[in-house]
Amino acid sequence: MEGCSTATGFLHLSDDVIEEILKYSTSNSMLLSTILVAKSIYLIFQTHPRSILHSLYFYVLGPTFPQALELYNYRAFSEKKGGAIAQVAPEIDIILTARERKSIELMERRVTRLENIFSFRHIDRTSVFRRLQRQESTRFRRAVYRIMFYNCDFPVNKYPFVEEVDRDPQKEIHELREERLKRRAFFSNFSTQELLEIYTISVFLENLAHSSFKDLYDGRALDDITSLALAAGPETILRCHRSQSDDPIYDVIEELVDKLEYHPLLKDYLSYPLLKVLDEREVGPPAQGLTFWHSISTRVTGNNELCHRCNQELGFLTWTRKTWTPLSTIYGPRSRRYSAKSLHDFFPRSLWENKVESVFLRKTLEAHPDNDYLTKIMDDIYDCNLKQENYASWSRDEFLCNDCFDRFLGEHLWIWLRYVKASTGELNEDCPRGYDCEIPIEKHREQFNHLCERQSGLGAVSQEV
Ligand SMILES: [Zn+2]
Ligand SMILES: [Zn+2]
Repeated sequence: MEGCSTATGFLHLSDDVIEEILKYSTSNSMLLSTILVAKSIYLIFQTHPRSILHSLYFYVLGPTFPQALELYNYRAFSEKKGGAIAQVAPEIDIILTARERKSIELMERRVTRLENIFSFRHIDRTSVFRRLQRQESTRFRRAVYRIMFYNCDFPVNKYPFVEEVDRDPQKEIHELREERLKRRAFFSNFSTQELLEIYTISVFLENLAHSSFKDLYDGRALDDITSLALAAGPETILRCHRSQSDDPIYDVIEELVDKLEYHPLLKDYLSYPLLKVLDEREVGPPAQGLTFWHSISTRVTGNNELCHRCNQELGFLTWTRKTWTPLSTIYGPRSRRYSAKSLHDFFPRSLWENKVESVFLRKTLEAHPDNDYLTKIMDDIYDCNLKQENYASWSRDEFLCNDCFDRFLGEHLWIWLRYVKASTGELNEDCPRGYDCEIPIEKHREQFNHLCERQSGLGAVSQEV
């Protein structure tokens, strides 16, 4: 090889070739072990650290690593400036400390989780791991990072709540106009195709937030908290979805309850400026229906769109035999709905107040390895003939919406727990009132089994007949 020093006598390779080889490292440890082979290889790494590390991170973190790195630097810079918008993009240094690398990896992991959810919801409901093709994945991730950049420039806590008595309508109109101009300026930097991608992903994120809050809010409050979630950012929406709760949004947004009532600067936070820019370019809003998603993937189809039992549209959680295990391990331990601590909410009537049975349930679930107890419960129900008569025709391969899955779980959880108790030999004599029993005496609850139905002709029957 002409013009290059032979760095390694025994390899007889030029510096350029060795640099290329180092660029093919697929992990930090692989790179480290290669550069420690010989001092001369180490010297080549020292001469070209940026290009080699860039290739490594690109390989390890994926094609949107540059966006992740840029966002990390931007956030770090804004934090130093006390949350002010960075006027000049900070210079990016590819040589990262271990802490910086971990932060970027975490950010990438969160975007991957969102991508998995998108893929599960819109491409393949049998796999909770992403099935997006490379180009689709790049479009998805790029759009998420752009929304995160937007959140950096227009952070939700930049807009304090103003009490009604202190409001000045003229000032508000002026602020709103100024703010909208800045937001439009942000989006005017992107091509029309990129704007459509960002809009599509903003709707995906809104739908995700909406589905996480729909059991907690309704009417206008549900719409308002959904728009605030978009201003809080994709990472907060992900946390809300995984915990199936609104706790993360309370952690992030100051004065949330007041802002839910009134905040003009957070309404249509992203859609208004984005659609305005599209309108200026004489591009109408994206078509509704399945083609709406085509800016990310043309493979989005309507297959398996409906729940096999109630025919309602399947949402973000679709339960079938193939998804019990992954969904169970993702949502089981963390969510407000399916965690070991809260699963007793699925007990019928008075049973959920019965501490003896609730504690037994929690301990049984916590003892289960890998937090995959939902799969165990569902498999036992099918394998051990625990299914109620009304559910005789249900099969574990059907696609169930979350409501139908919850109904099935609610109708069978106590039966499953009785089966577990019976198999450990701990089953006491049945209380005649069964799970309807409201006797709040601990000793009674310990003495009798309440995982059973009320016996006919007993208890409060005289009043019922
Ligand atoms: Zn259903
Ligand atoms: Zn009782």
